[in-house]
Amino acid sequence: MKLKILREAGIELSNGMNPSTSLRAGKLRAEAYNFPLEVLFLRDDDIPQYVEDGVADAGIVGENIIYETNKKLKVVEKLGFGKCRLSIAVPKNAEYKSIKELRGKKIATSYPVILSKYLKKKKVEAKIETVSGSVEIAPSVGLADAICDLVSSGSTLFMNGLKETEVIMRSEAVFVSGTKLDKEKSAILKKLLFRIKAVKKSRHNKYVLLNAPNEKLDVICKILPGMKSPTILPLAEKGWSSVHSVIDEEKFWEIIEQLKDNGAQGILVVPIEKMIV
Ligand code: AMP
Repeated sequence: MKLKILREAGIELSNGMNPSTSLRAGKLRAEAYNFPLEVLFLRDDDIPQYVEDGVADAGIVGENIIYETNKKLKVVEKLGFGKCRLSIAVPKNAEYKSIKELRGKKIATSYPVILSKYLKKKKVEAKIETVSGSVEIAPSVGLADAICDLVSSGSTLFMNGLKETEVIMRSEAVFVSGTKLDKEKSAILKKLLFRIKAVKKSRHNKYVLLNAPNEKLDVICKILPGMKSPTILPLAEKGWSSVHSVIDEEKFWEIIEQLKDNGAQGILVVPIEKMIV
């Protein structure tokens, strides 16, 4: 997804490969030929350190990793992908009424910093067992009484006989930058962000074209506000118009139903590649 957003922002690498092929080919750094940017492919856990040290000027990383590594970074833009939550889970048959049940218990996690802050806030003393992966198996192998890990769909918890009991934080991928960028780098970053925002915005919107009877145009235009206002073009058939507009993905089905109820016909919905407002 990180690579996809760069590609959609028009970033192409000097050897003619796109970022994902370059990564598959085992290259860990690549220069863009059509934008003043060098891409470093790093482990997520290392990105905050590289950006704080100024080795990289900016990065794309999960908020969970920023809070865990506790580095001085500027979160410039939420990117809307990689959404997950950092949660505590216990075996599904365990009694659990509140976090206090974990007093004196062992919790396995790859996020000891965030977890210990949370336990401190809740005034719960527990032993944190730091593991680097496969956290969900810890209770079944007797390593811990509970776990604290990232949850997305919840299927990994389910398959390991666990139930989610506390959400500690919600996270998604964010664009971060160092705090001491010079004027030139800040200007480049601004340009890149402008492109990323356009890509991000287009993902949340759809272009809609429909035919409407002229007497229903007023009500249909109210349902379809668009970027400014809908475009209306007369059809060859008298008494009908073609209406074009942009609609929000989240309200998509609700809007389509209202349009149909108000006489819209031949509704076409088209994805938007970029959206500059
Ligand atoms: P799920 O079964 O969809 O709840 O996913 C849980 C597994 O995927 C766990 O092992 C998590 O560590 C990992 N995971 C879920 N979401 C993310 C994310 N946004 N970034 C990295 N790992 C994740």
